[in-house]
Amino acid sequence: MFENLKAPPADKILALMQMFREDPRENKVDLGVGVYKNAEGVTPVMRAVKAAEQQIWEEQGSKSYVGLAGDPAYSAAMIQLILGDTVARENIAAVATPGGTGAVRQAFELVRNTNPDARVFVSDPTWPNHVSILKYLNMETVTYRYFDRETRGVNFDGMIEDLKAAKTGDVVLLHGCCHNPTGANLNEVQWREVIALINAQGLIPMVDIAYQGFGDGLEEDAMGVRLVASSCPEVLIAASCSKNFGIYRERTGLLLAVSQDASAQALHQGNLNFLNRQNYSFPPDHGARIVSTIMNDDALRGDWAAELEETRLGMLGLRQQLADELQRLTGSDRFAFLAQHRGMFSLLGTTPDLVEKMRVDNGIYMVGDSRMNIAGLNKQSVPILAQAIVDAGV
Ligand code: PMP
Repeated sequence: MFENLKAPPADKILALMQMFREDPRENKVDLGVGVYKNAEGVTPVMRAVKAAEQQIWEEQGSKSYVGLAGDPAYSAAMIQLILGDTVARENIAAVATPGGTGAVRQAFELVRNTNPDARVFVSDPTWPNHVSILKYLNMETVTYRYFDRETRGVNFDGMIEDLKAAKTGDVVLLHGCCHNPTGANLNEVQWREVIALINAQGLIPMVDIAYQGFGDGLEEDAMGVRLVASSCPEVLIAASCSKNFGIYRERTGLLLAVSQDASAQALHQGNLNFLNRQNYSFPPDHGARIVSTIMNDDALRGDWAAELEETRLGMLGLRQQLADELQRLTGSDRFAFLAQHRGMFSLLGTTPDLVEKMRVDNGIYMVGDSRMNIAGLNKQSVPILAQAIVDAGV
């Protein structure tokens, strides 16, 4: 059997990481992998996470299984964080999942199992894993225009026009905030317009929220997902704690199925539990317990929110510095979009050839589609990147 195995498609970001490691240049800059790094290039364990882990270590008396849906305290804490009080708890079915990726995968499976004809509309571009998981599940994917390569903002007219082609039961995948890879996001008026279209055409919105707190703030970043959850009859939400709690390797995510009344909640919950059972049975607990410990302790929660806010402001500062530096070098506002984008990423919007040129000539490592991880910069490397962008003729 093994002789029939084919090599899976190469992961471009992992290949880039390898090349970066092997590059001997001192001034090299890693803007590749989607992990937050501080000014020293370290992905830190947040203070509140350390404190929560210590508390768990001291108090936990058993490592026995928890439950198919995970710990209810975790779901409750996350629902509060994501949705606030916009939807009644009894209208929501929730399961803990291994990371946001686990939630995305299970949401797609739920769609495929219940409506095999559903197509999934994804933004062009989107997080590549969305597309590859859909392909792996043999699900039909349709792209909608999203990124305007001229303005580097959202091509909203194109988006609406393309979504009009969706039919009842089709799924529209939206990024809750901090769009990956572009950094370009919908404003409130645009969210409302998309929601009106979704409802008029009987579409199912699926919101992937992996960067809450990295854009405009914890509450602000939840604006879109809250509007969707309170306005659409059926909503899927895939959330990740990897970034905003910095617990990447703990694999901590959440899948929500939201409806506007409680009558079928038990049925929805049963289906989500069943998906967990078939895929991996009980979801991981350590990261989830860290999250609920932090969220249910005022001091830890306050400290976590403060550290997250510092992280967010640090990235905004780097964005502004880069936009200013490019303004100074080019004498134009062509790169002002870098300060307007939100989250960890910006799509520079240039060709793979120029991305390659910047890597070869200047040791700048970004993904081939020109996605830059802003957190890979620090005050010293911003001018190096700005000069490379100008020298390459972007
Ligand atoms: N969705 C998006 C858009 C992402 O960028 C990520 C992280 N790269 C995820 C989901 C899931 O992340 P994880 O599985 O690490 O929680």
